Amino acid sequence: VLAVKHKTWFRLVVKAIGITLLGFAAPELVDRIATYIAYRVQQQSWGTPLPYPEWLGSLLHVLGPLLQTAAGAYLLFGGDWLVNKAIPSNRPYCPECGYDLSKNSNDRCPECGVALANESGARS
Ligand SMILES: [Zn+2]
Repeated sequence: VLAVKHKTWFRLVVKAIGITLLGFAAPELVDRIATYIAYRVQQQSWGTPLPYPEWLGSLLHVLGPLLQTAAGAYLLFGGDWLVNKAIPSNRPYCPECGYDLSKNSNDRCPECGVALANESGARS
């Protein structure tokens, strides 16, 4: 219960990073693929494989934004795994600093001293 606030916040940050990555990388990826297709159409070389340095260059040119888009999509849609890994919900964590409170018996966080809600009554 204590971890919920911290976890929700962390999840939002992960999704925000994902959206930012997608926002920057996806248009760049589309632009580079479109540029590549336009180049191939202009050269009328569909079907004929590019010579070695060129296909490697094209691949590297697309690889950067492709990886960023993939990372962004993962953080946006699959980031919950990462969040659960970083902040397991079966253990109590301080809502302020994220300190592990599973061994804590006080009503204050030993790390930052914030007052904690416990079973006998919530306080803020
Ligand atoms: Zn704390």
